[in-house]
Amino acid sequence: MSGAYLGLVAVGPVIMAVVVAVVYLSQRKAICPSCSHRALRRVQFIRATVVVDGRRVPDSWSFLLCESCGARYKQHLGAALTVPSEAEWNQYCSK
Ligand SMILES: [Zn+2]
Repeated sequence: MSGAYLGLVAVGPVIMAVVVAVVYLSQRKAICPSCSHRALRRVQFIRATVVVDGRRVPDSWSFLLCESCGARYKQHLGAALTVPSEAEWNQYCSK
């Protein structure tokens, strides 16, 4: 049994714990600014390419729905929540 294999066996559970933590945190609901309940659920994730200063850059944003009060929000990665227009919501979130 090599040292590298033993190292992998020791690190395996740590990696699993990190993966579980990331999945848990990403699925945890956010607090709704409208009703203050932890009920904001991501209903749609959009990945797109946008043009900034003539250069194409990747962009992504989410649409969130409050399961408590029904408020709708849009959030760019790392940015504040904004309220999407009715047309925008229907375009991305209606199945
Ligand atoms: Zn709410």
